[in-house]
Amino acid sequence: MASEDRELRGFSTRAIHAGQAPDPSTGAIMTPVYFTSTYVQAAPGDHQGYEYSRTGNPTRTALEENLAALEGGRHGLCFGSGLAATDAILKTMRSDDHIVACNDLYGGTFRIFRNVYEPFGIRSTFVDASDPANITAAMDESTRLIWIETPTNPLLNVADISAIVEAVRGRDVKVVVDNTFATPYLQQPLALGADLVVHSMTKYLGGHSDVVGGALITSDSEWAERLAYVQNAAGGVPGPMDCFLVLRGTKTLAVRMDRHEENARRVVGFLQEHPRVARVHYPGLESHPGHEIAARQMSGFGGMVSFVLVGEEEQDARDLVSRTRIFSLAESLGGVESLIEHPVSMTHGAIPREERLKAGLSDALIRLSVGIEDAEDLIEDLGQALDA
Ligand SMILES: *Cc1c(COP(=O)(O)O)cnc(C)c1O
Repeated sequence: MASEDRELRGFSTRAIHAGQAPDPSTGAIMTPVYFTSTYVQAAPGDHQGYEYSRTGNPTRTALEENLAALEGGRHGLCFGSGLAATDAILKTMRSDDHIVACNDLYGGTFRIFRNVYEPFGIRSTFVDASDPANITAAMDESTRLIWIETPTNPLLNVADISAIVEAVRGRDVKVVVDNTFATPYLQQPLALGADLVVHSMTKYLGGHSDVVGGALITSDSEWAERLAYVQNAAGGVPGPMDCFLVLRGTKTLAVRMDRHEENARRVVGFLQEHPRVARVHYPGLESHPGHEIAARQMSGFGGMVSFVLVGEEEQDARDLVSRTRIFSLAESLGGVESLIEHPVSMTHGAIPREERLKAGLSDALIRLSVGIEDAEDLIEDLGQALDA
């Protein structure tokens, strides 16, 4: 592969060049968007590596190689959404297999485990993954998968990836890490011993809120082969334009993440001083329960922040999120623009109130995806919304 011939050591160099050699037929520096469903063969079976675009498409191949290089894995596979990527993992399992997952995982992941795959006999147990002992205690003979998200949504809880890998060593289980919040720029789970990384490319990898996609990265060649089989057999693939958009996104991932984090730190500092803010959740704060682990396993703390208003009144939080002018009120995260949302009535509305409160998810919790605008403007916007 051309990109392996060149010396692609640093993260940003890999982001810009891995998987992306200039087009040999024209010299085009950008990977062409191969809008084609099929490929002409000289004789039956005599083709140039591509037969049909569900099985393989050169724009998708470029993105798959690019993401594998960024996560430090040998194989990358792309899907039409983050959940389609998760679905492919579940399709490599069998009935009676068991999953142990963290209990504050992405709502859609919980939904596919519980409502789509449990009826097929794939059971899941949800535990607090901040202590690896909770994971091993929940395992039984049939456990095949450990599913970790770190940092989590919206409380930014942190799980110790290498401690969990160590705790399950020697057993016939694979450790999967959803690395959507951290991105490979800040955290590389495969290097910490995880077997597979899953991404919603919709978020920071795409980075511009203009595409939905998912990806899997692993160095386990046997599992990669089964996942590629499912990718083709079940067909949850992204189109070439979607792949191009994500490839454009990963080129600037490093500079965007640096700015997301710089702005998040400024916003956190402002919120901590504000009299209407009761507490701020950000793994970069020394007071955050997962700070030490995050500092060890991540190279930065990212752009997601959540906070709770004094008084813990749901209506106060609803009023606040409706008053910001630069922070847009919307679900999703990871784009260049700043977003604000109220998890209890939006992204996390499906969780019963009792369970929510037990997990520390207050009615007055507000989540920010801090964008890359000017920090002064973001702070002024939050200030006017808090003071109104
Ligand atoms: C958005 C998200 C997903 C699901 O990805 P889609 O692209 O929306 O299907 C999974 N995990 C996390 C952490 C997410 O934020």
